[in-house]
Parts: sequence; C-alpha cells; structure tokens
Amino acid sequence: MSTVHPPHTTAEALLADGTTVELRPLGPQDHRAVLDLHTEGLSEESRRLRFFGVSRNAPAQAADRLCGAPRAGLLALGAWVGEELIGEADCELLDDPPDTAELALAVADRWHHRGVATLLLEHLVHAARMAGIRFFEADTLFGNRAVHQVFADLGLPVQRRYAQGEVRIRVPLDESDERYRSAVDERGRRADVASLGALLRPGSVALVGASRRAGSVGRTVLGKIRRGGFAGAVWAVNPHAGEIDGQPAYPSVRALPAVPDLAVLAVPAGAVPGVAEECGAAGVRALVVLTSGLGTQEARGLMRACRRHSMRLVGPNSLGMVQTDPTIRLDAEFGGAFPRPGSAGVAVQSGGVGIALLQRLAWLGIGVSSFVSLGDKYDVSGNDLLQWWEADDRTDLALLHLESFGSPRAFARTARRVTRTIPVLTVDAGRSTAGRRGAASHTAAAATPTVTREALFRQAGITATRGIEELVDAAALLHAQPLPAPRGAVAVVSNAGGIGILAADACVEAGLVVPELPAEVGESLPPGASVRNPVDTTAAVRPAELALFLRALEREEAVDAILVCLAPTALCETPGQDPVHALLEGPARRRVPIVAVLLDQQVPVRYRTCADGGSLPVYSDSLSAARALAHARDRARWLAEPPPEPAAASDCDRRAARSVVDGYLTSHPEGGWLDPLSTADLLEAYGLPLTTLVWARDEHMASVAATGLRRLGHGGKVALKAYWPGQVHKSAVGAVRTGLATDADVRSAYREFARKFGSELSGAVVQPMAAPGVELLAGVVQDQVFGPLVVLGLGGTAADLLADRVARLAPLSDRDLTTMVTELRSAPLLSGDGGAPPVDLAAVRSVLARLSRLADDFPELVEADLNPVILHPDGAVCVDARIRLERRPSFDPYLRRLRRPAAAEGE
Ligand code: ADP
Ligand code: MG
Repeated sequence: MSTVHPPHTTAEALLADGTTVELRPLGPQDHRAVLDLHTEGLSEESRRLRFFGVSRNAPAQAADRLCGAPRAGLLALGAWVGEELIGEADCELLDDPPDTAELALAVADRWHHRGVATLLLEHLVHAARMAGIRFFEADTLFGNRAVHQVFADLGLPVQRRYAQGEVRIRVPLDESDERYRSAVDERGRRADVASLGALLRPGSVALVGASRRAGSVGRTVLGKIRRGGFAGAVWAVNPHAGEIDGQPAYPSVRALPAVPDLAVLAVPAGAVPGVAEECGAAGVRALVVLTSGLGTQEARGLMRACRRHSMRLVGPNSLGMVQTDPTIRLDAEFGGAFPRPGSAGVAVQSGGVGIALLQRLAWLGIGVSSFVSLGDKYDVSGNDLLQWWEADDRTDLALLHLESFGSPRAFARTARRVTRTIPVLTVDAGRSTAGRRGAASHTAAAATPTVTREALFRQAGITATRGIEELVDAAALLHAQPLPAPRGAVAVVSNAGGIGILAADACVEAGLVVPELPAEVGESLPPGASVRNPVDTTAAVRPAELALFLRALEREEAVDAILVCLAPTALCETPGQDPVHALLEGPARRRVPIVAVLLDQQVPVRYRTCADGGSLPVYSDSLSAARALAHARDRARWLAEPPPEPAAASDCDRRAARSVVDGYLTSHPEGGWLDPLSTADLLEAYGLPLTTLVWARDEHMASVAATGLRRLGHGGKVALKAYWPGQVHKSAVGAVRTGLATDADVRSAYREFARKFGSELSGAVVQPMAAPGVELLAGVVQDQVFGPLVVLGLGGTAADLLADRVARLAPLSDRDLTTMVTELRSAPLLSGDGGAPPVDLAAVRSVLARLSRLADDFPELVEADLNPVILHPDGAVCVDARIRLERRPSFDPYLRRLRRPAAAEGE
C-alpha cells in the first residue's frame, strides 16, 4: 500500500459524560490550536509522557508535523468542543513493517477521563482501516498508565513488547471485530444515556415562546407543565410579556434566575436558530422543539447550535414529552392527558399516533414511564430511547412508532440487545406504496420497502404489528402474562361450541398449534363436555368446575397457553355480571399465559383483575387474542435462541477481492457489471463455489476448452454461454447452450452465437455441465440506507414466476442462515420430500454466510446474483453469477457519531 488519503469527513460524537465533540481532520489552519494543545493543554508531566522528555521544541515540531501541507501517509484527527481543540490522534505510515502506522495521541489535561482518547482512536481506526492500514504501533513510557488503559479498553487485541522502561504497543486492526464492536457499543450506550439525562430527567425547564394568548401551543404546554406538578423550577420566556397566568415571564433565556436543564421551544420557525444558540450559550443541555415548518437554513442553524453547545434535541415538529417519575413529573406536551405513571416507554414519530397510543394504553390500564414525540427526528431517535429505557429500571416495555430509520443498522444492533431484556413493540408504518408516499410527505422521511423492514424487525427480535390496535393487543399480553413455551400449543376453551371453533381457527391461522388433549384433563367438566381441543365445557359448566378444569390444563404438558372464550350462560350467577367473572376467582398468574375473549365487550382489549391481583387480558374477538398469543410465542422463540453471533465464513481473502474491486472501478469509474472472469475471481476470493469456467474468444478456443472440460462435466458434457458487455438474461435470447456432448456440438453452438449476435459477441464461457439438482437463487442488494440485504429463493428459470424468497440484512447470524432455509415455501424440496435425496444444507448456509461477508466488506458490491446455485446431496455449485460494482464511500455503520438530519444537509 503506497498512499493514504486523509479522512475528509467531519463527524460529531458523544464523550462518556454526554458532551458533544466535533471530530475533524487537522490541517494547516489548525497549527495554532495544535500548538496550544501541546503547550497550555498539557502539564509538564503530561508532556514528558507524550514526548519522552521535556524538549522545548517538541510541541512546535508536533504542530509542524500534523499541520504542514497534507502528506500521503498521515492521518490526523482533532476533537473540538466549540473552538477548543481538546485532543488529537494521528498515525503515520511506516516504511517497515508493512501496512503499519505509528500512532500518537494527546488529550488536554482538563479533558482527561471523559473518553476523548478512546473516541479519537475509534475514528482513527476507522479511517486507517479504510486506507488499508492493518496495524498501529506506538511507543509509550512504562509509567504511562492512562495510555495503557486506553489500549486495554479499546476492544482490539493489543500486543506489548517491553524494553528499557518503554512499551512498544502493536494493535492489529482487522481482527476480533465482534469484541471490538461490543466494546464500542457499550461506550456508545453509556455516552448516549449520559447525554439524555437533561432531556428525560431535567431538574428545571424553560418554556420559550410562552405566549399570553390562551390556546397557543406555548401557553398550553406551560400550563400543563405547571398543573402536572413538575418537581423542579419552571420558567416562562417571552420578550413581550411581563407575566403569564399571574407568574413572571422573562425576556430571554439569559435573563432567567438560573440555567434550565431543558428548554421547550414554541417560537416561530425563523426564531428557532437564534433561540437555540442563546440556550446553548447559556448552558442549557437539551431542547424540545415544538415548532414545525423549518426551512433548510433554520434547520442548519438549529443543528449547529445543538452540536456546538452539546445539547440533545427532540423534534422539531414534536408534540413534546412526558416523564412520569414521581420525583420529576414533567408533562411537556400539547396532545393528550398526563398518562398514569407506569412501566411502558413510548416513542412516536407522528404526534397523532402518539395521542392515539397513549389514549389506548390509558383505557387498558398500562401506565407510561416516559413518552417522547420524536417529530422530524433531527437528533434524538428511537435508537436513543431504546438505550435510555434499557438503562431505566422503571421501564419494562418499549413501544415505538417509526416511519423512517436514520441509521437502521445501528438501530438493529441496539434493538437486538434490548429485546433480550424487555419486549420492544412497533407499528410497522409505511408498508404500502400509498402509506410510504404518506410517510415521505408527512415527516419528510423516506420510509423503506417492506421486505427490508421486515428483515430488520425479525433479526432484531422486535414485535412488529400492523396497526395501533394490534400493538396494544400484543402489549396487553406481554405486559401482564408470562410468555408461552416456544412451541405455542394453545388449549382453546369455550362454553359454547361455535365460538370455540372460531377461536381454534384463529389460533391456527396465526401460526399457533391447537393440539389434541388427553381425555383425563376434563374430569371436572359436566357430562356432555368435549375435551378434544377446542374444549366445549357446555353451557352448563359452573364457575367452580371451570376453575378446576383450568388448574388441570395449566398442569398439562401439552399446553403452552390457554385461551378462554365465554358466552353469557349459567356462568353468570349474579345478574348483571358478565361470564368473565367466573375466571376472576382464580389466579391471573399461572404457569402458562391465559387470555379471555368476551364477544360482546365494547373495547378491543381490557384488563380484569384476578384474585391474585394479577391482570387477565380480555379481548373482544378471538382473532386479536390469537394474534397477541402468536406475538408472545415469537418472542419466546427469540429468547430461546442464543444471542445471534455473526455467522462465520473462514478463508475469505479480502485483499484478493479488494484488488478485483479496485481494479474494475479504476478502469470503470462509473461502475457496472463485472465480466465473467473477474466475477469468478471475486467469488473465488470469498470461497463461493462457482463452477470451473474457461473463457473462449473464438470457435477454436471454445473447442479446445470444451475438450479439456468435458471430462469434468456431468455425462461428459459442457455448457456454452455467449457473452457481451451489458448482457442481461442469457437464456431468454438464446445465449445458453447446455448438454453439449461432442466437439461438433460445441463448434456449431459457437458458430450459431457468432451468427446470431454478430459483432456484439465478445466471446463465450465454457463450463462443465453440473449434475441436476435443486436450483436456488442467492444474492445480495445494497440498500442505500439499510446496507446489504441477502436474498435466498427458488432459482432457475421459474424464479421470477414463483417469487419464493426470503431476505435478511447482513451481517447474517447462524440463526438467520437456518431460518432463511426453513422459511422458503420450497423448503420441503431441500429436505428430500418427494423422493429426491436431501441436499447439502451446510453448503447453502456457507454460500449465504460468504455472500453476507462479501457484501459487508465491500459496499461497492451493489448487486450480486447467483442464479442458479445447483444443490446436490454433497455440495453446491453456482453455474451463473452476475455482479455489479459501483463506487461507494465505504463507511462503518457502527462508528460512534451523531446523525446528520437530511433536512439540514446540502449547501
Ligand atoms: P441465464 O440465467 O442468464 O438465462 P444461466 O447461465 O443461468 O443463464 O443458464 C440458464 C439455465 O441453464 C440455468 O438455470 C441452469 O438450469 C442451466 N445451466 C446453465 N449452465 C449450466 C451448467 N454448467 N450445468 C448445468 N446446468 C446449467
Ligand atoms: Mg441464471
């Protein structure tokens, strides 16, 4: 590797204490700042550790080295807070050993212990990896504990060599990715939670734009904060009003008696940047912007103020937020009523959905821990709130409504962790084309296609529902009842045969099992009762008999959940009572989850309190109850699996692949489809089983190649495929001839190509014939926002017709590999149903894992299509592959940095 280009991007990220810093490459204009950092910023002792002595010239030399004319081989990053350079990290390529850069670090003394060095290193590792650097080396003094700690905590393996009071550190950059990613995640989580404190647990609040006019947004929110009994100080800011509601109003944030933690902005769009800057300068730590309709300039001004002054931002176009913790009690929103305190965390992109959701939770009786209306999501997103709730011991249920994802891969990674501890439910908004159009114009956010979203939710263990009602139905069950066993076998019980049959149908349709029950279970039931599942207790059943029966069911091994459908009959012993009363005498908390269905109930779902104080969810129809049970079963399955690890794919030669990709893009800067030989090189580098192929430019070469390959081919035969650049489907235009047995066949096939395609034809590919088998399609597409999506489907020529496909986002886990195969409708073909021997599933898994790895390593690979991959009992072979490359800025989706809202981008 000869040249290293400096990283040209800037990014903002959070320090361990939640402070926002800007990271950007150092250049000549930073000379003064770098000099100051190494002089005023460092104590004498720090300088000694940094420069191994107290040479007077060392700081100036460092500034010259880092801020001279840009040099190939040098990467230098600075961390800034406002105008102050608080730290730098740089690395410079060495002549020897190869691919190794010498690393140096300096952090101003007063910024120590806040994760500055680690953050700089993470970004430098990223830049170095992109530049092809594979090792960092650094000399440190033995006594430099701080630096040794930084390296120990980084998450990358560190090799140390001791000599004469010095330690030579060597860090390989391309190893142990998962451990490094987890370490980065953990730091990101802590920093994020620290930065959100001022927003979600503020000690004081200012309402800026509190007008005197009754009914205005500002006035309404101010009134709600006060009436809601906020535990800290509340101030109104309005330049035109001396007092509002009999309380003093201050002309500006600066004029307030103390600095508020949080400012809620209800000012006109044009005033937002100025007010935000004023808040930041005063020391406010978080903003909720209710204002909507910000133009690009206003958006940019708002973002600049937030980043410069370390403020986290909710909105703009937010409905506000709520914190119900009794020690805080903040109701800063203008939508609904202050929710009952409880344990559900709620975040919504659309305010309207938020109001509806809070309303339904209130009806049901699920209380809320915190509620945030994210609005246009310039900064704080669903990802931030998941991390907050994960750390917040008041929250044990997360409810999200998201129309768009800023960084879906980071979100998926967070969600995958959080769903292990608490259920995360979401409304999958923007599924249809019409819905997506709505999403795009509504919150200026492009919602993403269904498959990709589904893949994201599945892989993260998120409970995705199709609407608010289904979300609340599922929440009702997950909140109050235990999870069923992953098998999901339901005992359906009713006191009227017909409704029991409907409920059993609903269960089966939702993917649950309704197993036959042993006759003994029903001993307590009246004569005439039928114990086969669905169970018909007959209308004559008494409450005590039903209770005994439920006890027996709960003990039954074949039962994972109980669904009881009741019609008003003898069960209602007291006039005016509904039949559910018969269930309330017993416990709500049993070994298995229990739900009831009461067909004449007015609301879709409500809780009824049982003898043990627990809640029994009662639904108004069995479809909703069954769907909720299915969601709970899916969650149980998710938890039963070990946490997904990225699937291993060994022997992937990244450098060989890199040289194919770079080689192609250098000669084709505009991108395009690889030719057959480069395709083969790239796939081979990652161990993908492409069949042997020989390139033939003319009839004679084809004949020679075929003679050599015929030995390898099934039945001594070969395939001949015409090729020209830009070709799409070959067989459709007669460019594929298979099963060629003799030299004459090959020659005449080639001549026919030459006749048919004329001067277009650049040559042909000769391959041995593969033995017949099951033909699958395996492929990857890069989504601009979601990253690579890996697809597996039924292949061959019927592929498009049958459209039997499953998709997952890379990186794939072992579990993804398994479920992709089993979820295909054609899965029985693979396991040998229908007489054929079962195919080699390990080979399918290996193809998928390698494709995932390839696409993850090379964002330039925008499309790869392996169709067909022919499966045999002892392996798999791909006989046709197409790959499209495009220049793409390579970036690490997990790098710690704050999002840049699209609304504030562009010049
Ligand atoms: P295209 O997809 O562009 O039409 P393919 O190269 O996939 O062209 O060939 C079409 C079909 O021909 C394949 O789906 C497969 O059934 C068969 N085929 C092609 N090459 C071979 C081969 N080497 N061995 C066995 N069958 C082949
Ligand atoms: Mg094909």
